[in-house]
Amino acid sequence: MEAGAVAYFEGAYVPVEQARVSILTHAFNYGTGLFEGIRGYYAPEEDNILLFKLREHVERLVRNFNILCMEISETPEQLEEICVEIVKRSEFREGVYIRPICYKSELSLGPRLKDVESSFCCYVIKLGDYVDVKSGLDVMVSSWRRLADNAIPSRAKCTGSYVNSALASTEARQAGFDEAIVLREDGSVAEGSAMNLFMVMDGRLITPPPTADILVGITRNTVMELARQELGMEVVERPVSRTELYVCDEVFFTGTGAQVAPVRSMDRRVIGEGKPGPVSKRMQSLYFDIVHGKVDAYRHWCTPVY
Ligand code: PMP
Repeated sequence: MEAGAVAYFEGAYVPVEQARVSILTHAFNYGTGLFEGIRGYYAPEEDNILLFKLREHVERLVRNFNILCMEISETPEQLEEICVEIVKRSEFREGVYIRPICYKSELSLGPRLKDVESSFCCYVIKLGDYVDVKSGLDVMVSSWRRLADNAIPSRAKCTGSYVNSALASTEARQAGFDEAIVLREDGSVAEGSAMNLFMVMDGRLITPPPTADILVGITRNTVMELARQELGMEVVERPVSRTELYVCDEVFFTGTGAQVAPVRSMDRRVIGEGKPGPVSKRMQSLYFDIVHGKVDAYRHWCTPVY
């Protein structure tokens, strides 16, 4: 963990090394945590870090409390303040990633949700690109299936459900691919291991709907809005079949970590021209300009830290 980094833990700001939980913690035993991932981009012109869509991330977290029966003492406004404050106190001046976590903090036995005490903690690390966003990714369809909404809901960014993501991404990397695509039990496409998926077909942008066992990504919402507003494209949310990914014009992933990451091959079949396509490239450059605070119209999506 980053030296100098500050965490928020048990109501106080502490060096990250001091933020430790007991092995008896409910969330450690049962995966009963909800988390977020928020990026901060360093903007050299203003010597500041801009947190992208901070409010939207806190909103998604708080909205999903109901799924895991969570209550914490901090208000949503305080959660936003804490995210800003830990970056400020860490004094970073480069790209960062903030990880807020609400977790069942009680030291108690039994996989229950009701009347188990919850707490909030948060840490920050330095983070640059997390997948290759330039040359295009080689991806495979995983043999693992996406968790169904009535098993462990993907719409909640629940710590325990990331075993599913880890199985899929490990399989893909062991087989020599960059990333996995995970199908639902019915065989339709859900998303990547920790990123949403879009395909471009005949000038339209197509992505699986929120009912397709996906995490309803904040980058996904951003890209849908930008496609409509800035690229004048029609955006369609509908079920996607595996083989549509073989025959479409472009595929790209979106996510806070992945950003906008084009795909160049799928199950060893070349997609489009085997390099990032025109829509993926335009979307990616627009996204990078916006997150770095360079587009006035979308400046309200950026929260300055300093
Ligand atoms: N799906 C999963 C399973 C994820 O973990 C993530 C990353 N948070 C995403 C999609 C993308 O979501 P977002 O754009 O909100 O980061």
